[in-house]
Amino acid sequence: MLSYRKELWFNTEHRRQLIHITPDVEACLAESGIREGLALVNAMHITASVFVNDNESGLHADFETWLEKLAPEKPHSQYAHNGFEDNADAHLKRTVMGREVVVAVTDGKLDLGPWERIFYGEFDGKRKKRVLVKIVGA
Ligand code: ZN
Repeated sequence: MLSYRKELWFNTEHRRQLIHITPDVEACLAESGIREGLALVNAMHITASVFVNDNESGLHADFETWLEKLAPEKPHSQYAHNGFEDNADAHLKRTVMGREVVVAVTDGKLDLGPWERIFYGEFDGKRKKRVLVKIVGA
C-alpha cells in the first residue's frame, strides 16, 4: 500500500472565504502516484471546513447569507464561547459545513460527480491555517 501526506496552507484576506481547492488536491494525487484508493481532505482547524459542492459564485454568496442567518458573527457578546475570543460563530459554521471529505481515487483521478468540487471554507481567517491531504492506495 502507498501512503501520501501533504499540508496545504492558507492565509485568507477575509474573515470568511471559500477557496476552490480541487486543483490542489489533483496536484497532490498526481504527486502521490496512487492510481486506486481514497483521498481524505480535512481542515486541521476547528473554525474551518472542507466540503464538496458546486463551483458557482451565486451559491457561494448563498452559503454566506445562510450561515450568517444560522450563526451571525455579531454581536460577539451573544455567544458564551466569546469570553476571550470572538469566533464562536466560526466554530458553529464549521460544524454545519463539515470537517472533511473523502473522495474515491479511480484510474489515477479523483472520482467526483460531474459538478462536485472540493472547497476550503474559512470562517475565522486572516491568519495561517492548513488542510491535510492524505491519500492511501496502490
Ligand atoms: Zn474559539
